[in-house]
Amino acid sequence: MSGVVIAGGGQAGFQVAASLRQGGYAGEITLVSAEARHPYQRPPLSKTYIKTGAAFDSLLLKPETFYEKNAITFRGGERVTAIDRAAGWVSLGSGEQLTYDHLVLATGASNRVLPIPGRDLAGVHQLRTAEDAEKLRADLADASDVAIVGGGFIGLEVAAALRALNKRVMVVEAADRLMGRTVSQEVSAFFLAEHRAMGTEIRLNTAISAILGEERVRAVALSDGSELPADLVLIAAGVVPNDALAREAGLSTDNGVVVDPFMATDDPHIFAIGDCAAFHSVHADRMVRLESVQNAVDQAKLVAARILGSDDPATLSPYRAVPWFWSDQGPYKLQIVGLTAGADHVEMADLGEAGKLVAYCFKGDRLLGIETVNRPGEHMLGRRILAEDLRIARDEVAHADFDLKAHVAALQARG
Ligand SMILES: Cc1cc2nc3c(=O)[nH]c(=O)nc-3n(C[C@H](O)[C@H](O)[C@H](O)COP(=O)(O)OP(=O)(O)OC[C@H]3O[C@@H](n4cnc5c(N)ncnc54)[C@H](O)[C@@H]3O)c2cc1C
Repeated sequence: MSGVVIAGGGQAGFQVAASLRQGGYAGEITLVSAEARHPYQRPPLSKTYIKTGAAFDSLLLKPETFYEKNAITFRGGERVTAIDRAAGWVSLGSGEQLTYDHLVLATGASNRVLPIPGRDLAGVHQLRTAEDAEKLRADLADASDVAIVGGGFIGLEVAAALRALNKRVMVVEAADRLMGRTVSQEVSAFFLAEHRAMGTEIRLNTAISAILGEERVRAVALSDGSELPADLVLIAAGVVPNDALAREAGLSTDNGVVVDPFMATDDPHIFAIGDCAAFHSVHADRMVRLESVQNAVDQAKLVAARILGSDDPATLSPYRAVPWFWSDQGPYKLQIVGLTAGADHVEMADLGEAGKLVAYCFKGDRLLGIETVNRPGEHMLGRRILAEDLRIARDEVAHADFDLKAHVAALQARG
């Protein structure tokens, strides 16, 4: 066999297979997925899926019949274990070998494992897969005190979902603010206040030092010396990229599989996309690895176009898709456009409406991005601003009468 082999049947792996067929690719496509289930969406796992009795099928990216109809061979429950670049084949866990013309690494990321005593006790969970979510959902029925380790997107989404189920919830965050890697101080502070108002206890600057119990968790011990009851623990302390397969094949890795602006690794026949890929972002002007649906989908589309374009980079543009993210936490939809982490100045719009925010994040005079809460209009305008490289100055935004929509329209009219 040859054609395209895709290692990883998540959001990115699915998309490259679908886009190849949509673009008329006539060769074989094999999607090898360590998870047995057909590709599905992860975002609902930490939001609706754990609190409703939704069926797994509601998560599927496409019905199972899609793969047969599109001649995509889905190898569920199989792992790519090695790449022989000289021979142009991959080995599977079963011992089988698959030859390829192009190999796409879409292996995603795995939850970070914290070296905490007690992490193997019953009642201690992680959340990456539908199976994880189903175990968590089943175990929640008898739990009343939930400790969540990590105040990032996933920890906070779960916290809000569990408050809606009337669980007592505590979030332990080692840093001095929530979502510190991804949002501004101002937005962190808003969510801290709102989660506390929802009834979640939040401990900042606090680490978990042990999970206590005999067979099942009964409490957590914290770095401040306190011990709190917990009959369920969720560890949501970030992820690490699944880049070992690439590294063992002699490809460059550095917090992810290193790729060029066309998502190619050091080997022109091998691409890497999605959560496992480290690339130079034109928006941040540095190497980044992004964990988002948008990034997985856009990089997959680019790789499909490149494979369809007979490897001719002249016919394609380098990856410069505008990054955007969302997170649903109780009644609040947080949306971020751009990579705002390096901002040195944040201008908050004066909206005069409770529960809504627009934060313009600048580095010097350059708008890095916009963070919004329950303001989808500004988020969409932000995507246009960054995509079209429209200039917006700090003093304009700071003006009391600033109207983003009118401003964007005027800039576009000016050309
Ligand atoms: C609970 C949760 C909530 C999220 N919410 C949001 C959200 O609200 N918004 C947002 O933009 N993003 C969200 N994300 C992130 C988003 O889901 C990921 O960025 C996206 O799934 C990345 O796609 P991927 O294909 O790169 O990786 P994944 O979806 O992780 O897929 C990788 C797949 O490859 C498999 N694999 C690994 N190694 C091998 C191997 N050697 N051989 C074969 N298969 C292998 C893995 O088992 C996995 O199935 C969320 C993630 C989680 C876990």
